[in-house]
Amino acid sequence: MTDFAVLKNMQPQPELVRENIKKDPGFGLYFTDHMSHVRYTLDDGWHAHQVQPYAPLQLDPAAAVFHYAQEIFEGLKAYRHADGSIWTFRPDRNAIRINKSAERLALPQLPEEDFIESLKALVALDQQWVPTPESAADESSLYLRPFMIATERFLGVRSSHEVDYYVISCPAGPYFSGGIKPVSIWLSQKLNRAGAGGTGFAKCGGNYAASLVPTNEAVAQGCQQVLFTDAAENKYIDELGGMNLMLVTKDGRLLTPELGDSILDGVTRRSLLDLAPQLGLEPEERRITVEEWREGAANGDIVEAFACGTAAVVTPIGRVVSNDFTIDHGEEPGAKTMEFRRTLLDIQYGRIEDKNNWMV
Ligand code: PMP
Repeated sequence: MTDFAVLKNMQPQPELVRENIKKDPGFGLYFTDHMSHVRYTLDDGWHAHQVQPYAPLQLDPAAAVFHYAQEIFEGLKAYRHADGSIWTFRPDRNAIRINKSAERLALPQLPEEDFIESLKALVALDQQWVPTPESAADESSLYLRPFMIATERFLGVRSSHEVDYYVISCPAGPYFSGGIKPVSIWLSQKLNRAGAGGTGFAKCGGNYAASLVPTNEAVAQGCQQVLFTDAAENKYIDELGGMNLMLVTKDGRLLTPELGDSILDGVTRRSLLDLAPQLGLEPEERRITVEEWREGAANGDIVEAFACGTAAVVTPIGRVVSNDFTIDHGEEPGAKTMEFRRTLLDIQYGRIEDKNNWMV
């Protein structure tokens, strides 16, 4: 592991400004005083590990990232526990995932220790930016956004010889401000975000660009999220625009689409599958058709549906809307959904024992 040098921000935001932001941070709006940075060149590999003042980047207009979207990112949170200590949740999984993404996008592998240290060094310096939850309902945290971009000045279509990796961070308030309410999701039947052999399993910007039009469609239909199916047949459930999907059956199974080319290996998804037996459910990963969900919801075999991811933790799904039909799970969050939600949050905020050693 390489130590991160510290270049302190001599003009940090005033304490009063910072404390006001932390009271009502929203999401992705206000950034902390520093960012981590590591530089890569073909000749020297990763070097110049540093935490430096948060500031705009100066990039050449011909930098590869602007033209061919050679870019990947990650997302995870730092949680403040009651004793004041600050913890991240399974950052080793994000370290593995960023390298899977890097491999697909022809970006260099970042040593796992450097990834973890880039988070630790930043959070240590900007620790006063991590909100202190006032109650168990106050799900505030510091959101960490690592990203890697191709910065070589060259318009040829080939993998960049120069790459920069950064971590920025922003305080994040509770995802649901007025209590947990089931969301409606729009089934995208024509537009897909990912296909076989594509980049769906990688966390690259292009996947999210491809999800924007279907997401706009969802919003126009009065839905909060978009559900994508497989691109070949539009028959099997993949995932939502920014979350994985899970179903709870009457006979005690936790169903979720199996991983493949087009699904992100969500850290929350993986953790809930691990926790399922403790909550009396048997995890089952396999291909699931929209039709199976529709029939199961109608005949009572599928009793709950929820989305899961770092941002919203566990989000009950009330309705699936499409041009041809709707699936209805009711106005109230399911019992198992809420149990998963509470268990995960209790681990993340240090309110119950972390039996799996997930917190770092
Ligand atoms: N799917 C997609 C497309 C996502 O963007 C995310 C958020 N990273 C997830 C699933 C959930 O992943 P995680 O639980 O690691 O946040």
